[in-house]
Amino acid sequence: MDKSKRDGTRCILTFHAHPDDESSKGPATIHLASKSGVRTVLVCATGGEEGDILNPALNVQETKDNLADIRRQELFDAASAIGYSQVYFLGYRDSGMQGTESNNNPLSFNMADLDEASGRLVEIIRKEKPQVVISYGNEQQSYPHPDHIMTNKVVLRAFEDTGDPTKFTQFGPSFQPLKLYFTVWAKQRILEMHETYLRLGLDSPFDSRWLERPVPESEKVTTQIDISSSAHIRREALLAHKTQIDPNSKFWFGLPPDVLDNLYPYEDYHLYKDLTNRKELPDIETDLFDGIL
Ligand SMILES: [Zn+2]
Repeated sequence: MDKSKRDGTRCILTFHAHPDDESSKGPATIHLASKSGVRTVLVCATGGEEGDILNPALNVQETKDNLADIRRQELFDAASAIGYSQVYFLGYRDSGMQGTESNNNPLSFNMADLDEASGRLVEIIRKEKPQVVISYGNEQQSYPHPDHIMTNKVVLRAFEDTGDPTKFTQFGPSFQPLKLYFTVWAKQRILEMHETYLRLGLDSPFDSRWLERPVPESEKVTTQIDISSSAHIRREALLAHKTQIDPNSKFWFGLPPDVLDNLYPYEDYHLYKDLTNRKELPDIETDLFDGIL
């Protein structure tokens, strides 16, 4: 599609840390948006080079030797199942889990210069012109992966920089997205899943760490997307990450598919920045483009 055509098109850009994050956080929202004609753009900060091979069937030397290429292909497969129009890599190396040696690799996202990383994202935002940007919240105590924390920092900076005509002039005229959302794993969803495991006589993967965790400000649900017609897409997309997701994982697939798809058919978001100038904000938004003409 040429650029002039794209200028008037609705576009959502999601910014994730690793291949597979796009499949666990909001895949059905993107699937539905894509089906309704919205252009959907995925930006992945790293190549996932430090990912553990969690599928025992693929935990062999050949997989380890080629993990970067394999994960790249897995991401393309998942993005295609979800319905993404375009995938970009920001070009950084996976920083590994908190406290590991890889945190200090000069190529890692963790060590990236914030200005430079913001510039890479601004270049994509100005090219794609999304009205809606989705990424990660400010409080990430529950999963303090350095790349997830950096993803948040970079998106906050880039959301400001891209609208500033004095910044990154080499990437064209400024463009300001109107909304910045954070993906949320709603407490209600976790509680309902936990109760369903128990009701079916299954071991719940959710322990007190999950169940008693207070909900931080940037995870308060402002926006709830009904994904009941596309709930299955999360499973399909996760399974595309063959090395990262164990098809027998109790965490992801412990509930029968029809039960899981129906027990909480929503994906939740926190609207962090809203530049739409709406006169009234709904109590709970049900459309990411609410307030955008
Ligand atoms: Zn991740």
